[in-house]
Amino acid sequence: MNNVKKYSIGIDMGATSIKMGLMSKDWNILLRKTIPVEKYRLPDFFFKEVGEAVHAMLNEKNIKKDEFGGMGIGLPGCVDSVNGIVRDLTNMPYWHEVHISEKFEKFLQIPTRIDNDVNMMTIGEWRHGAGNECEDMICITLGTGVGGGLVLNGKMYRGVDLCAGEIGHIPLFYDGEQCNCGNRGCLERYVGNAAIVRRTQEKLILNPEKGTILVDLLSANNDLTPKLISEAAGQGDELSNEIFNETGKYIGSVLSGVVNLLNPERIVIGGGVAQAGELLFKPIREEVEKRAMPVAVAGLKIIPAKLGEDAGIYGAATYAIEHFLHKEF
Ligand SMILES: [Zn+2]
Repeated sequence: MNNVKKYSIGIDMGATSIKMGLMSKDWNILLRKTIPVEKYRLPDFFFKEVGEAVHAMLNEKNIKKDEFGGMGIGLPGCVDSVNGIVRDLTNMPYWHEVHISEKFEKFLQIPTRIDNDVNMMTIGEWRHGAGNECEDMICITLGTGVGGGLVLNGKMYRGVDLCAGEIGHIPLFYDGEQCNCGNRGCLERYVGNAAIVRRTQEKLILNPEKGTILVDLLSANNDLTPKLISEAAGQGDELSNEIFNETGKYIGSVLSGVVNLLNPERIVIGGGVAQAGELLFKPIREEVEKRAMPVAVAGLKIIPAKLGEDAGIYGAATYAIEHFLHKEF
């Protein structure tokens, strides 16, 4: 990054809330605001509420127009980042062909860049977190879905139709389960939140004697979630340890192909399921080392994301600053 410095705003829109952060010139979050998201709200409410919040944040810190570099927004769905248009959002029925950048820039005088949420998280981790600004990095998020973002040759790689990085939809099993994307046996069908829960239930039915600690935790009125399964594993539950070991192997198996294809320097893994830590990272690393070509693994680090839930805010603000000030991205 060169020496021009300005304030910026990063926004991370999720399924239940819009998280906003006003970023200082040297990349600290000065102010935060959270706006609830409702599934059936029209995009017009988004423009009104976000526009007002942006102006209120800039006023509160007395930031002049020429000190403000721009705003970035990460959105969960199919986004045309070049033209600033949301094609469709996951689970938000009224978001179709919404011209976000044009609306904010023309009518609210806020220079705006948009991208999908996983790409923004990738930019955040790459520039400010676990990516350490390396030239070739893959960022993965493990949660309800399994998403990925690619940094290749020191640039975000988006592909010809701007939809690159869908690591969750690389097939793990040739004739596996039907996936929503139309393919069969996708990684996400085996390691997404719901899939981990389903695999655990199936194992519990077959081998209840292996899961006694997990069953005890469950009977204390807890829901069966990847977090609870990782807790049980940490307490020595055999079945829960098997589940995480297998989950790591599945992810590592797909990643070994990705490593052979792209030869990255770092693979950064975040999202709720990654909170399980070494329970998951150890089998992932072992599987990649076992399967990928030795030369492609030699310089590779597979590490946890650093910025947690703030990665999207950092990435969105960085995207805006890099685009408007430095003509990059
Ligand atoms: Zn799929």
